[in-house]
Amino acid sequence: MKYFILFGPPGAGKGTQATAMVESYKLCHISTGALLRNEIAAGTELGLKAKALIDAGELVPDEVVEGMIESQFNTVKGVEGFLLDGFPRTIAQAEVLDKMLAKKGEAVTSCVSIMIPDAMIMERIKHRATIEGRADDAKEETINNRIKTYHEKTEPLVEYYKKAGKYNEIDGVGTIDEVRTRIFATMDKF
Ligand code: ADP
Repeated sequence: MKYFILFGPPGAGKGTQATAMVESYKLCHISTGALLRNEIAAGTELGLKAKALIDAGELVPDEVVEGMIESQFNTVKGVEGFLLDGFPRTIAQAEVLDKMLAKKGEAVTSCVSIMIPDAMIMERIKHRATIEGRADDAKEETINNRIKTYHEKTEPLVEYYKKAGKYNEIDGVGTIDEVRTRIFATMDKF
């Protein structure tokens, strides 16, 4: 099994590119953001707790998303691998993921990182807000806090995966097709 991590700041285009990646490489797409939004829509207790944090631009607790990932690993069958989108988002989550995979005799295949400059993050999210209507895209304050959270908690993962020799950075500036071509060129190596 292949385990690809789709990494990048909010608004980098992970969700957009994930669709093409899972189709072409027969992967199961696991987006922790989408799973959490499903919980919110279903009005579960977990969803209620997550909503307050997400709307503030904070992360939900590590254990919550780790549990979601593990249950997906245990239930999804008939794929050639997984595309993890939005997970891991902290060093602690990355360590737990490594342990989860080691127990199965598996390991992360590659961290595919889509990079865009900070100035473009705000622009892209504001554009998405007009299309998708996500609550966490609506307020500038929330977006700013998500960018801050990204730099503080998530960006250290770049070094984590570089050290492991698994970091592959893609320039996220360009058209959707251009970025997809760059991503596929990297994925073809694995
Ligand atoms: P984006 O990539 O646009 O920031 P996501 O859809 O990946 O958005 O996630 C939306 C929100 O869900 C995040 O801002 C965060 O609050 C929460 N979330 C998603 N994944 C995780 C995670 N792995 N750990 C903690 N919180 C998460």
